Amino acid sequence: MNTTTPIKQDFQVHDVTALNKAKSIIENNTSAQIQQEVIDAVERNAVWRGEECLNLLAPEAPTSQTVRDLLASEVGTRAAEGHIGPEQRWFAGTKHIDEIEALCVELLKKVFKSNYADHRLVASMIGNMAVYAALTEPGDQIMTIAQPLGGHSSNRHDGPAGIRGLKIADIPMNTEELTVDLIEFERVAKELKPKLVTLGASMTLFPFPIKEMSEIVKEWGGKIFFDGAHQLGLIGGGQFQDPLKEGASVMTGSAGKTFSGPQSGIIVWNDPELTKPLTDAIFPTLAATHQVNRVAALAASAAEFLEFGEAYMEQIVKNAKALGQAFHDRGITVLGAHKGFTETHQVILDVKEFGGGLHVGHELAKANIITNKNLIPSDRTEDWDRPSGLRIGTIEVTRLGMKEKDMATIANLIADILISNKDLDVAKKEALEMRKSFKKLHYCFE
Ligand SMILES: *Cc1c(COP(=O)(O)O)cnc(C)c1O
Repeated sequence: MNTTTPIKQDFQVHDVTALNKAKSIIENNTSAQIQQEVIDAVERNAVWRGEECLNLLAPEAPTSQTVRDLLASEVGTRAAEGHIGPEQRWFAGTKHIDEIEALCVELLKKVFKSNYADHRLVASMIGNMAVYAALTEPGDQIMTIAQPLGGHSSNRHDGPAGIRGLKIADIPMNTEELTVDLIEFERVAKELKPKLVTLGASMTLFPFPIKEMSEIVKEWGGKIFFDGAHQLGLIGGGQFQDPLKEGASVMTGSAGKTFSGPQSGIIVWNDPELTKPLTDAIFPTLAATHQVNRVAALAASAAEFLEFGEAYMEQIVKNAKALGQAFHDRGITVLGAHKGFTETHQVILDVKEFGGGLHVGHELAKANIITNKNLIPSDRTEDWDRPSGLRIGTIEVTRLGMKEKDMATIANLIADILISNKDLDVAKKEALEMRKSFKKLHYCFE
């Protein structure tokens, strides 16, 4: 920030209209009425987003009723800092909390076939911070993926990696193949000798050459860190590459994306040498009271995952491929078309000719179709607020029981809006009708 320009007294990062509306509610109502306003807004969202929209956001998933109930459970009012066990905690009275947390850890190890797992990350961002705190020193060189190629702020200058004071170089990417340019990577990596190479992608369509990259960095003791925020469920369900098996030293991921558990983070690794540094970074550095209700919900979703994960994740990928094909058939530019569009839950459209991702995202939302704007390789990082791309994910529609033919219906509805200027009210009615015919949540216990 330019320190010579004084900051205005009323400077806000938030939308001022929204803040002023809230202020007015607070000033003109009793405390009980104000509380009711909060409850009402939650209910309005539950009806609209929960029952009336086609939610195609790639980073969100509907949780089972059991998982939701556990999030509201009594145990969420209990404090349980520390490691699992009577002597490892700060507080007494945690014997049942130990049972819950031990089940969670062992379930995560089983789902991800890892030797170690930790359950105390309230967000995957915090998991990434833990990795940088444990495996690097300030000033160390790392390599990560730039945002237009799919990279995430947590591994860049404006996130945990930046806070740690790391030197961050870009992993060279092949913008056609949408994966790492291995030859260029080898050249740059041999020159920079990064301590850590982070493969973390929010826009993720195809696997990475983890094995080859880990062979290269091994030469100087470098490590691969796989930030599998998005792909976590696909990995657990055996539908994507297995990073730990292919040479990554540690993997983090979001529990609330493909994994379809409560929003929070997961971290897994195999090497016992990493256990102390990683867990020291988690507790007492980055987590204290770590929301045991969330841990219970995470354990419950991991149990669902053992039973249903493979079939659920397989259908998610099938649906994404079908969606990509259907958009392609309508003449819309889909990234990775020559490679079958996608190997994940995501489909990425170039919607520049339709006004860009911001415009298209808001137009579709008027028709109850929820997506998000996204940077694509032809954009610059600075264009983050007005990128050319649109990211679409198949997690929720799949859990609601939709199949490939339903993806063609969705793609046609969106294409009609983009190409044929279909009336948004008419489109909204169709989206609503479609949503209403898929009521039941699948891939969970009755
Ligand atoms: C979403 C995302 C994160 C952050 O995950 P949270 O669980 O929201 O904290 C980190 N890395 C990548 C690549 C992501 O896509």
